[in-house]
Amino acid sequence: MTQLPLRAQLASALGRTAATLSRVTGRGDGSVIGGRVGLVLEPDLLKQLARDRKLALVSATNGKTTTTRLITAALTELGEVATNAFGANMPAGHVSALSAHKTAPYGVLEVDEKYLPEVLETTGASVVCLMNLSRDQMDRAAEIWLLAQKWRRALSGKPTHVIANCDDPLVTWGASTAAKVTWVAGGQRWKEDSWSCPECGGPLDRKGADWACRECTFHRPEPHWVLDDDAVIDPRGHRWVLDLQLPGLANRSNGAMALAVAEAFGLHVQSALPRLREVTSVAGRYTTVQRDGRAARLLLSKNPAGWLEAFDVSDPSLPIILSVNAQGPDGRDTSWLWDVDYRILRGRPVYITGERRLDLALRLDVADVPFQLCESFTEAFNAIPPGRLDVIANYTAFQQIRSEFGRAV
Ligand SMILES: [Zn+2]
Repeated sequence: MTQLPLRAQLASALGRTAATLSRVTGRGDGSVIGGRVGLVLEPDLLKQLARDRKLALVSATNGKTTTTRLITAALTELGEVATNAFGANMPAGHVSALSAHKTAPYGVLEVDEKYLPEVLETTGASVVCLMNLSRDQMDRAAEIWLLAQKWRRALSGKPTHVIANCDDPLVTWGASTAAKVTWVAGGQRWKEDSWSCPECGGPLDRKGADWACRECTFHRPEPHWVLDDDAVIDPRGHRWVLDLQLPGLANRSNGAMALAVAEAFGLHVQSALPRLREVTSVAGRYTTVQRDGRAARLLLSKNPAGWLEAFDVSDPSLPIILSVNAQGPDGRDTSWLWDVDYRILRGRPVYITGERRLDLALRLDVADVPFQLCESFTEAFNAIPPGRLDVIANYTAFQQIRSEFGRAV
């Protein structure tokens, strides 16, 4: 690997010092501040840190952090991998991840959907993994359509190898200008943002997993990889039972994407899959925490599609706590609650908490879901008899619950 220019070396070192200072003074893991300091001193730092490495960028509305983790786990088979494991998914976080592993020949970077064009341009990553696009907090279909259009422009004319979920029409459209695409039939649970053709606006017809525009030629490409219930069928027709420790359909889909990305790095399923099976939790998600005879499994859900995924993982026989906040990272407006169908919770003991518990209470009341309103997470937790329970929380509510348990992950 070639040496970084002196200025970049210095910027990278000072960035790491800032990150350490941030950590020791209790201001978080420091990956963002460290990267920011580095970029101020050397605006070209990300480009220089990316040079001479084989990089994969991972973007989607949901599942970015988990898929990044799974791909990283697989690629450690090949050598050292630099990654932004804590979800700092903008350029400062990427700088920080790459400077922390300066000699790693591989990098797997989670990238915020809006930053993907910029980060692809800067890093020249050879592989891009695109999974799903749906409304996030206050976004609506028009905004995510614009996002997909930006992906198209960014990918056009580049040698990038894209691994994309062809069950999501908008992702398919966003990826289809790339020179090389490996299509993965990874499934799509949330369909509310893809009833119309992104190419012409006509209606999309669906038959089973297949979809096609009624008015133009845009249609689902033939998949190379197929997620088939609990298994993945590879491009040679071999069926591999996934047997992941991470629960639920959404994670099996993330696993299928990770295997296809691993193959783009020359790593066969046989070697990659055992590594995927070692992943048990991702930044606290899916972790089970214990206290006072109760075992609570923590599920994070940041937007309507994420709630469907969490319901899919959740055990319908167990009591459930729902916690909703509306701080900056959650989106201040909770009108998205009306996009989620909560009727699936009928018949379960439901406890609700969080700063916006009253918004959630109104929503559940309209959906005819009985619930108990609790002032705090602890009150809800203690109101549930000893035994197992599930917790679904949005972003800052999830972090608060995690800290109550001493970030036990
Ligand atoms: Zn069309």
